[in-house]
Amino acid sequence: MSSSKATSTSTISTSSLRVASLGTPRIGPRRELKFALESFWSGATDEKALIEAGVGLRAANWARQKKLGVTVIPSNDFSFYDQVLDTSVMVGAIPEIYRWNGGPVSLATYFAMARGAQGKPHEASCGHASHGHDDAHGVPALEMTKWFDTNYHYMVPELTKDQKFILASRKPIEEYEEAKALGYQTRPVLVGPVTFLKLAKSKDAGFNPLSLLDRLLPVYIEVLRELAYRGAEWVQIDEPCLVLDLDIVAQQALHYAYAEIASAVPQLKIMLTTYFGGLGANRDTALSLPVAGLHLDLVRAPEQIDDLAGVPDNRVLSLGMIDGRNIWRADLSRLLDRLEPAIAKLGKHRVQIAPSCSLLHVPIDLALETELDPEIKSWLAFSVQKLEELATLGTALADGRRAVEANLKASDRAATSRKASPRIHDAKVAARVAGVNEPMRFRSSIFAERATVQRERFNLPAFPTTTIGSFPQTADVRNARSAHARGALTDEAYKLYLQNQTARTVRWQENIGLDVLVHGEFERNDMVQYFGEQLAGFAFTAHGWVQSYGSRYVRPPVLFGDVSRPKPMTVEWWQYAQSLTKKPMKAMLTGPVTILNWSFVRDDIPRSEACRQIALAIRDEVADLEAAGAGMIQIDEAALREGLPLRKSEWQAYLDWAVDAFRLCSSGVRDETQIHTHMCYSEFNDIIGAIGAMDADVISIETSRSKMELLDAFRDYRYPNEIGPGVYDIHSPRVPEIGEMTGLLKLARQRLSDTQIWINPDCGLKTRKWEEVRPALANMVAAARELRAMA
Ligand code: GLN
Ligand code: ZN
Repeated sequence: MSSSKATSTSTISTSSLRVASLGTPRIGPRRELKFALESFWSGATDEKALIEAGVGLRAANWARQKKLGVTVIPSNDFSFYDQVLDTSVMVGAIPEIYRWNGGPVSLATYFAMARGAQGKPHEASCGHASHGHDDAHGVPALEMTKWFDTNYHYMVPELTKDQKFILASRKPIEEYEEAKALGYQTRPVLVGPVTFLKLAKSKDAGFNPLSLLDRLLPVYIEVLRELAYRGAEWVQIDEPCLVLDLDIVAQQALHYAYAEIASAVPQLKIMLTTYFGGLGANRDTALSLPVAGLHLDLVRAPEQIDDLAGVPDNRVLSLGMIDGRNIWRADLSRLLDRLEPAIAKLGKHRVQIAPSCSLLHVPIDLALETELDPEIKSWLAFSVQKLEELATLGTALADGRRAVEANLKASDRAATSRKASPRIHDAKVAARVAGVNEPMRFRSSIFAERATVQRERFNLPAFPTTTIGSFPQTADVRNARSAHARGALTDEAYKLYLQNQTARTVRWQENIGLDVLVHGEFERNDMVQYFGEQLAGFAFTAHGWVQSYGSRYVRPPVLFGDVSRPKPMTVEWWQYAQSLTKKPMKAMLTGPVTILNWSFVRDDIPRSEACRQIALAIRDEVADLEAAGAGMIQIDEAALREGLPLRKSEWQAYLDWAVDAFRLCSSGVRDETQIHTHMCYSEFNDIIGAIGAMDADVISIETSRSKMELLDAFRDYRYPNEIGPGVYDIHSPRVPEIGEMTGLLKLARQRLSDTQIWINPDCGLKTRKWEEVRPALANMVAAARELRAMA
């Protein structure tokens, strides 16, 4: 690597061991990208300003990495929206509806694919995107879904049976040149052709996008040739599909793709990059591909380091040692204990060290966290700190541990304090976890018996109506919250404000005739953060943003220690709301699995154990709500499915402990207390056993867009408990007509018995406007009445 124009101020020498970055956060330390995008979308700034913002962010990223001692610096890891979308655009896979003219792809076309055209900026209903888009106006966006098991969402490539590919965007080449002009010899990053096709979907039935590989490869080869021609020595090609269960078709596709690339561009070195797991059964495939280098995730699959013997001698190995998915500081001495013998065997020239995956999934710089408790802060590392750790490892491996003694000592100290700190280890929590027994996981009676007493208690009409919890979080509500946070609104004034919002909402629900009311969740900033802030064991950052999708970033809570609940969290709000009405007021909680899956989770105990601790804390809350008189308690598990491991063989173990946590938090109540749960859009077929085992009295799910087909799984399983299939698509501003909802309910009745069915929207209403919610819910209540009259 050339370092002739190095402006490095670092004293770290990495002369003989390469330190690689696989990708760096693109959003900017102060969310510069978000603000540039939103200002462009709103029309406040022009295209030139946006493009300049991109140039500035990339330059800053390259400079930062260089300064931190990274010797293999990536390019084309930047994106205005998403790297998979960039790849679709690169290869000209632009569905017809976007009316692309075949020339250079404009930003307008690009953002139409990302967000739909003519619509307003879309929103995620949960703030934790996992849904579609607001597509009521103009052209809809491409579908969006989770990137492997991360909370990052990519735009799903949409291909047709006779898809043509051409080089439509030269972004990888342009960004390589841009870096070169600034003095950086970079390693461009591409989403690999096989992973790209595997992530793609097609509207044409019965066709496998992988069959398009031979049409796609020429475009990749064109890009690679040109990169080589312009001086790139290496290119990083990401094939994270190598950590999935791959069938023979996908295995063959990999062989074919890399053989073609090797023969077409023999002079270029490919770093084939795998992450988010071990190669497992794909190991032979990965090792036999004709590439110059292979990157392994040794955080998720540390055992792979003991198994390097079979790697061909001519392969450079990139060892992913630093966790790119979590925010913990590494125990550098322990890592060196593992690295030193491996490198002694392989030889320094054959090795690079790297984060386990792109650092896209962690916040940028811990130094910005000036409010964070110093002890907790000493245990953390964000992207900047992780690159520093890598540089330290690199120097220790090249020049000996002595060369970085101070850094290693600091790392040792942090590791020791984390092992022993009373902030993390709470003997009371340990005792409680040890005391968990079988009866705690079971309701006293089976569902049929509970249902009988619950019917007597609540005396609800057939097809009872309710909502999922939140009502519109208007600008007014958000302003009040931030005024309160700033100190501009006193505690009392803020509380009064929230009470008024709640009271209005309760009265309104009563007036339109809903059967089971909610308080509206106005006091909650976010369904996970609200609970994290009240539980011991969680910390929050001020700038710890990570990209969820596009310009939507989240600041996941940091679960650092044993979890307990110092005092009730929701009881007062529930009591206030119930005091306003005689109708049942459903209490609202977020479940343990969802809290876990949307947080950065400690890595010193298994996830299952952290989840069990949260479950016990929620169990306490459930008990307090019941004691205060709550007859219905909803425990949302929106992210249950999101936690499924990448490999099917690991699903059952996850589902077992996830279901166990739900049962533990929900089973401590009397028969007459009705437990509800809610899940957003998901396939239920392959997890219906787990849903059944959760044994909630009522589950509400998102079904309106699937035309109730998601209920097939419940029907086939003979799911006995009650179900509220969503009849109102809350992702769209459109107000559903009564007839549409009765139509959907008719479909539901073909699959469920009448006594099972509840009527509710798909999800919470927080992203909607009151003007939309009012008529929609009034129609929903009318639909219920029609149904009762008919039944
Ligand atoms: N109770 C939550 C709400 O209504 C549930 C949100 C969700 O499922 N993501 O907002
Ligand atoms: Zn939902």
